[in-house]
Amino acid sequence: MLGLKERIVAVVPILEYPHSILRQRAKSVAAIDKTVFRLADDLMDTLVDSGGVGLAANQIGSLRRVIALKMPEDEEPSVYINPRIVHREGVREVSEGCLSFPDHYGIVQRSMWVRVTGLDRKTNVFQICADGLLAQAFEHETDHLNGILFIDHLLSHQHLFEYPDEEEVEPEHEPNDEYLAEAAQ
Ligand SMILES: [Zn+2]
Repeated sequence: MLGLKERIVAVVPILEYPHSILRQRAKSVAAIDKTVFRLADDLMDTLVDSGGVGLAANQIGSLRRVIALKMPEDEEPSVYINPRIVHREGVREVSEGCLSFPDHYGIVQRSMWVRVTGLDRKTNVFQICADGLLAQAFEHETDHLNGILFIDHLLSHQHLFEYPDEEEVEPEHEPNDEYLAEAAQ
């Protein structure tokens, strides 16, 4: 039975590498109108459906600076409009994947923490200091808005790895932080 709060979920196709829009720079959102809210809804619904931790507008065919993030502990995704990293500190190596590169991951360098500013879904100005997976996700998704992909950050001696077939995976341990860091973005 449909609940009163039932609404149409808009899961849209995620564009995969080497689609040319993934290499284009998205434009700042100048005015918040219903098309921005529609894009935000599409990003959130598609991200939740994918099971990933982040999705940028480029990945669903829009060149506007909007991203959605959903950390493993979050019940709901969050949307950020015109997100901008204003400070980065430290360097670490992390395992990373991308929803536009299904079944692949690589080792990249990311910051220890970042400070990000922009507008949230209610168009309030936000400023977030993030570390761990959240910092990694902000860096990964703002890169997308600039046409930069995680393969551009692969350490020179590294290459892209393919996840083993599912039957070869032995899930004998609970997922740990390292595993979560590999969640696709
Ligand atoms: Zn990505």
